[in-house]
Amino acid sequence: MDRGRLTSLLARERDSQVRRNPRSAAAYAQADHLFGRVPMTWMNKQAAGFPLYLESARGSHVVDLDGHEYVDLCLGDSGAMAGHSPAPVTEAVMRRLATLGGATAMMPTEDAEWVGAELTRRFGLPRWSFSLTATDANRWAIRLARAVTGRPKILVNSYCYHGSVDESLIVVGDDGEGVSRPGNVGAPCEVTLTSRVAEFNDVDGLERQLAHGDVAAVLMEPALTNVGIVLPEPGYLDAVRRLTRRHGTLLINDETHTLSAGPGGCTGAWGLAPDVVTIGKAIGGGVAVGAYGLSAELAAAILDRDDLDLVDMGGVGGTLAGNALSVAAARATLEHVLTDSAFAQMTALATRFTDAVTKVIEAHDLPWSISQLGARAEYRFVRPAPRDGTSSARAADAELEDYLHLYLANRGVLLTPFHNMALMSPATSAADVDRHSEVFAAAVAELLA
Ligand code: PMP
Repeated sequence: MDRGRLTSLLARERDSQVRRNPRSAAAYAQADHLFGRVPMTWMNKQAAGFPLYLESARGSHVVDLDGHEYVDLCLGDSGAMAGHSPAPVTEAVMRRLATLGGATAMMPTEDAEWVGAELTRRFGLPRWSFSLTATDANRWAIRLARAVTGRPKILVNSYCYHGSVDESLIVVGDDGEGVSRPGNVGAPCEVTLTSRVAEFNDVDGLERQLAHGDVAAVLMEPALTNVGIVLPEPGYLDAVRRLTRRHGTLLINDETHTLSAGPGGCTGAWGLAPDVVTIGKAIGGGVAVGAYGLSAELAAAILDRDDLDLVDMGGVGGTLAGNALSVAAARATLEHVLTDSAFAQMTALATRFTDAVTKVIEAHDLPWSISQLGARAEYRFVRPAPRDGTSSARAADAELEDYLHLYLANRGVLLTPFHNMALMSPATSAADVDRHSEVFAAAVAELLA
């Protein structure tokens, strides 16, 4: 690839985005009262130097403040995996807010038990509790794991992402041991005091770390999804379960993104047997909700402990967690939108997406790859697809990513800013996928011309 050509095409696409979006650019320029000019600092991850502002969204499409319509393959990085404002969720939210009233009242509603039972059907774990984010589900699962095992450390995979969880900001260093993740903001203590790390797909590395006997839980995605998609090799997840059991370590599967694998995420699709599942984002159909599920044995062991304050200020809890509005939204999403049959259709579309990208990669003999996990797929600038987080992180190419993101956005297709990821919702159509295929092929052809 001619890097000079990439740089000049990127500049052209940046200019084009600036010219096409004067209202978004102006809104950003005027946002003096926001830290970093955005509602949340990650919204500054934008190739053109300002974010596109949202005007409206329905199904698989969004419209920006300047009136451009996009095929949305980002879907709020999974938060809108159900599609934007699906009718059953809108109705359930309106019913709760307007008809019945009472979004949050420090009182349970019957929807919560329905959602718990449905999550049990999907993931196998029988006892559920709610949060508002996947981050908090992970935080509280970690606390429970420490409490019940009496061990101090959490093990994660290098270049994982589980939200802003202190214990997870660790990567494998040059000597094979853990070091703080670059950029870690205000760590409460040296991360190696709280954490251990192993590469994904590295059974020996995992065993070496667990052998210290101080790991309360392994917190992992069954497939990495935040550094490209890194799929498990045959036997790896079985080995993880065998080793965690042997070393008295709990296993937490974070299914926040890997829900894409099917109605019960990878846990359901691959018959996994974790002690805890954590989840968030998609299950609220766009409304904030997270959840964690515990095995019966683990739930009983925790509830039996008189010394743990689970009710007041002991460290697990959020005032709005499990609120009436968020569980109403989760119920509508799981009952009517992200259903078993919806997943079959979403996965078929992701396969259509993957096939089209593969054709382009092969036609130009590019050293790129694409990995699919059910309803989501992601391309990476290395071939074969990486087998662990560190090698996948090394394959990042910021300039190339920015070029593709801008080229696609300027022609009506949105990818997730932090990924080359495409996610299918129940509202996504074959025409949506084909629009990406066409524009992606054109972007590559222009780059290589
Ligand atoms: N777990 C995983 C696997 C994630 O990808 C993310 C967010 N990308 C989170 C947890 C945290 O989700 P949230 O930011 O909604 O808390």
